Amino acid sequence: MLIIQKEKIGEWLKELTKKFIVIDARKDILPFKQYFLPPEEEIFVFDKNKKKLLAAKKTEEFILFGLHPKAAGALAQLAEIMKTPKPDFFYFQKRQAATVVSVTETEETMPHKEIDLILEKIPSTSSGQEKYKAHVLSKKGEKIAKNKFFKKTNSPLLHPAILRDCGGQAAPPIPELHKLLLDPELLKDAVEWSWQGCPEIWEKLGQQCLGCGICTYVCPLCHCFSIGDKCSIDKTRATKIRRWTACTLPEFSQITGGHKFHGSIKERYYNWFFHKFVRAYKEYGKAQCVACGNCKKNCPAGIDIEQVILDILKNFQKNKKQGA
Ligand code: SF4
Ligand code: SF4
Repeated sequence: MLIIQKEKIGEWLKELTKKFIVIDARKDILPFKQYFLPPEEEIFVFDKNKKKLLAAKKTEEFILFGLHPKAAGALAQLAEIMKTPKPDFFYFQKRQAATVVSVTETEETMPHKEIDLILEKIPSTSSGQEKYKAHVLSKKGEKIAKNKFFKKTNSPLLHPAILRDCGGQAAPPIPELHKLLLDPELLKDAVEWSWQGCPEIWEKLGQQCLGCGICTYVCPLCHCFSIGDKCSIDKTRATKIRRWTACTLPEFSQITGGHKFHGSIKERYYNWFFHKFVRAYKEYGKAQCVACGNCKKNCPAGIDIEQVILDILKNFQKNKKQGA
């Protein structure tokens, strides 16, 4: 088994920067998706001087260091989404260029799919030295752990397989919401029913929501984008770009001529829910939510997705009882 001392991790990362771009994911507000589906990216470029279309610049190999273990399940789910109905070329080009390293302080189950290397903290020993066990999960992980910073150990005190693969179900930050997600069919039925069955919920949310789109930007699974053009000031370079968009933004459902299919915030917010819990279920058999709590934490209007779902379910079940 390989181990690395905590104090050597910085040196190891510095060494890696000689060959790779190293990104520290631990301080990000935006989720990891920004590295595979950036807020704005070039798709292709027309260069007037060269008189031809050029492919967008290829992503260099990079290391995403410190991805939170709880985000690993979302990374695996986003990969599934981006494969459907056809693999998204730009997403997977970046995904293939990445080596993902997760760091965990506790013994826990976490999804192993999509992770190349896990550093798991070893409980402190009498020597007081802090160390991490390296769980190499892919060839890419092996490549970056094969160096002088990682030492082999045969210590019988260290079990190599304590970290167990939970198949994408790591305990999320909002455990109650996570439990609700285990019955996606019930959620789908309840959300679908609520638009007409309990319109006061959506009226209230329509008044509360600012239509800012932050919940979508911070969600690790929201992936809608729009396509646009950019032109250089000297008009020699035109670029086709794609950039994040959000169902709650006013222009999201606007078509040529100015008509908006979802004119009110209430409709747009419902559409966000509808996609997450109804359409996603029909498309992938599960809700498009991993109960990470990012939307709740960052919403400027204080909207709590868990509370919204609980209200919907309470009313749905009450209605069912009354109808029975
Ligand atoms: S972050 Fe909050 S206020 Fe902004 S669109 Fe989402 S729910 Fe509405
Ligand atoms: S809790 Fe909010 S941010 Fe997290 S996955 Fe669900 S909808 Fe997205």
